[in-house]
Amino acid sequence: MFATTPVQTIRFAEQAIFVKRDDLLHPDFSGNKARKFQYFLEQDFPLVKKLVGYGSAQANSLHSLAALAKMRGWQLDYYVDHIAGYLKQNPQGNYKAALDNGANIIEKPAGIELNLETYVQQDTQAPFESNKQLVVKSTVFVPEGGRCEYAQLGLDQLGREIIEWLKQNNMKKLELFLPSGTGTTALYLQRFFVEFSKTASSSDLSLPSVTVLTCSCVGGDEYLTKQFYQLTDNTDYHPRIISNGKKYHFGKLNRQCYDMWQHVNKQGIEFELLYDPVGFIMLEHYLNTANLSGDDLNKGAAVPVMYLHQGGLLGNPSMLARYKRKYQQQG
Ligand SMILES: *Cc1c(COP(=O)(O)O)cnc(C)c1O
Repeated sequence: MFATTPVQTIRFAEQAIFVKRDDLLHPDFSGNKARKFQYFLEQDFPLVKKLVGYGSAQANSLHSLAALAKMRGWQLDYYVDHIAGYLKQNPQGNYKAALDNGANIIEKPAGIELNLETYVQQDTQAPFESNKQLVVKSTVFVPEGGRCEYAQLGLDQLGREIIEWLKQNNMKKLELFLPSGTGTTALYLQRFFVEFSKTASSSDLSLPSVTVLTCSCVGGDEYLTKQFYQLTDNTDYHPRIISNGKKYHFGKLNRQCYDMWQHVNKQGIEFELLYDPVGFIMLEHYLNTANLSGDDLNKGAAVPVMYLHQGGLLGNPSMLARYKRKYQQQG
């Protein structure tokens, strides 16, 4: 469905890091949301006329769902807890792109105590389950952030692209690093690579093997582990969580995050401002501690690392404006 995205090289923590440019997947439907929603783009849904989703008014998923609905000729009803006043008056980023794509954004009325998912179920009168996408009559429901088993289809394709790239470059081993929100992308990639190595080992021992490393950007490591269990009990499929012991609050301005973002951007690739700064902070920690513990013999045989660029750049200008207001006066 999508053309293979390119792989580039940057210098980071005194070594070469490969960057898989999934941000270049498609101008309107990019990054990991496009991979996770690919199923809904390709599958035949003859009766469906409407897509229902929910989450934050600034979320990358909102933009991607709006693009998906437009491509399919469906209406998108997207529920949010709250739309900030300034955003309503000055639509920007993912919110504006979704409106431009015709999304119907519905705010949960003030005074309703139900959590957003329960409210959506009540308002649409559809008992859809979280984790499992449900087609109810003419409507497709997508759980928050695309956290559902249907994400596997698009992520398998991404996994196959990475395996193909390794073969072309005669590489046998790779560590794939990506920052997590719900952990869906990381887990389904890990599952793909585990299953791939099972089918491969009997026929060809020289096929590449990939390990997925991730970090938590929302809610901490315990929360992320819980999310993994919600998707599967099979711990072989759970990616390894890297942490430096610090917690970064999602969406909150943080000097270290801003500095890291500016640092990696100097390599000529624009990264995203919510997940990627935490990703690179944790990756740097991992690479530094891995180098410390390895002796010189092992250093030469270090496993190559690939960072997955998961898109989301449309939210950058508004985050950047907040950062500039906060830090540029102070220098
Ligand atoms: C949504 C998103 C993530 C988190 O993906 P999960 O599958 O929920 O872990 C990471 N990076 C970017 C840029 C995203 O848009």
